[in-house]
Amino acid sequence: MIEALPGTGVPGEQVLAELRELRAADLPTHGGRLFAYVYDPAVAGLDELAHAAYAVSAHVNGLDPTAFPSLLAMENALVAAAGRLLGGGPGTAAPEVAGSVTSGGTESLILAVKAARDAHPGIDRPRLVVPSTAHAAFAKAAHYLRVALDVVPVGADLRADPLATAAAIGPETVLVAASAPSYAHGVVDPIPQLAALAAERGVRFHVDACFGGWVLPYLRRLGADLPDFDFTVPGVTSISVDLHKYAYAPKGVSVLLHRDAALRMPQFFAYADWPGYTMVNPVISSTRSGGPIAAALATLRHLGDDGYLRLAGHTRDAVAVLAGAVEATAGVRLFAPPETTVVCLATEPDVDLFVLADELAARGWHTQPQLAYGGLPATIHLTVTAAVGATAADFGPDLAAAIAATRARGPVALPPALLEAAGALTPQMVTPDLVEGLAAGLGLGLGEDVGGRMAAVNSLLDVAPPALREALLAGFLSLLQRPSWHGVG
Ligand SMILES: *Cc1c(COP(=O)(O)O)cnc(C)c1O
Repeated sequence: MIEALPGTGVPGEQVLAELRELRAADLPTHGGRLFAYVYDPAVAGLDELAHAAYAVSAHVNGLDPTAFPSLLAMENALVAAAGRLLGGGPGTAAPEVAGSVTSGGTESLILAVKAARDAHPGIDRPRLVVPSTAHAAFAKAAHYLRVALDVVPVGADLRADPLATAAAIGPETVLVAASAPSYAHGVVDPIPQLAALAAERGVRFHVDACFGGWVLPYLRRLGADLPDFDFTVPGVTSISVDLHKYAYAPKGVSVLLHRDAALRMPQFFAYADWPGYTMVNPVISSTRSGGPIAAALATLRHLGDDGYLRLAGHTRDAVAVLAGAVEATAGVRLFAPPETTVVCLATEPDVDLFVLADELAARGWHTQPQLAYGGLPATIHLTVTAAVGATAADFGPDLAAAIAATRARGPVALPPALLEAAGALTPQMVTPDLVEGLAAGLGLGLGEDVGGRMAAVNSLLDVAPPALREALLAGFLSLLQRPSWHGVG
């Protein structure tokens, strides 16, 4: 347990040593074996550069660009780079592109929905139309902003269905959105068709390129056969792209672009009706650090366009090796076409997917299990970044070994009493005590071993309906997030 406020201050060197010791329990952010959460280009010296740049601007406040013009200049440069990469800027079909730097993809999406909602003050019950594969952050945006969410099932190819989307658009629809690509499966929605039918109805259309916006343009330049998804597509009114994903910047930066500044206006919040300074914020945060922005700028400038092209090549090659390993190994199969930077696999009935994820983790491969949902089976997700180029060749043999071990271990057999109790649960019944009991019953510690074998937990969640999953995981998170005098963490 670490004490944040000791009675007497601790020397800096010791504090840093303690932090490093804490970090040792984390998943490895480098080394090309973690397939979610982190994006690693494996470029020597890049971390040090980003950290130094971060330090230069850490205490600068993005609240007021007139006080800190350095941040304004950096943000405008980032928006220009993102705009250019995504089909906008002088001499293009979207010469007036405007944008904002946000703290992440979720914030970008919330703001895209806010801008669309507030562009229609006359619509009392605004609605948002998304495919079922759209990122959960849209649901969060809809929830926060009291916009109704219309979820349209995707086709058998896991892509947004234009006809069904058209049918879902009504007079109260303020925004239609789709993904380039979807996070779960890494497939690109048919953006031109979707944007055209939104435009026909006079509705804004957002492309969620949070995940792929910084790599798809390079994959296309390398010859990948991917549909248009950017401002070259008529009807696309906004695009989000996370710099802390495939631009390889440290966490805390995304860009939200609009086709022009007029479309962006309703994104802003201004307030003069109090005795303090007039607040005018383009994004959700008011005070915000310049650190992530400077780090992102340094990362972009150092890697350069040619650097991103080279890294996209490494990533594409790694995807091919991993996908080839999945195809060549009995017991697993590709669940989605590996057309971008995701490898998504499913298991054959005799291989328990959640046990397999644990067996892969035991061999140092940290993947992301995705629960069964709406007719789709549970899958394992791998976000592939350039660093995987160095490790991809080792994956196949370990995958085969992990499958053998999974078969030997057999599927998770949850205690029938537990399954029965869980089957009778409703979200309303989930209390802190109940979650604590369930966690203990599943052998789940609340301390440092919290990321251990997860198959039992995942199997239980897998049979629960989404609302119960939400309640159970929220309850579990609440147990984890307690002041450390409880002895947790
Ligand atoms: C990561 C992601 C988001 C959310 O971004 P955060 O930076 O995690 O808030 C939204 N959409 C897609 C497609 C993503 O991959």
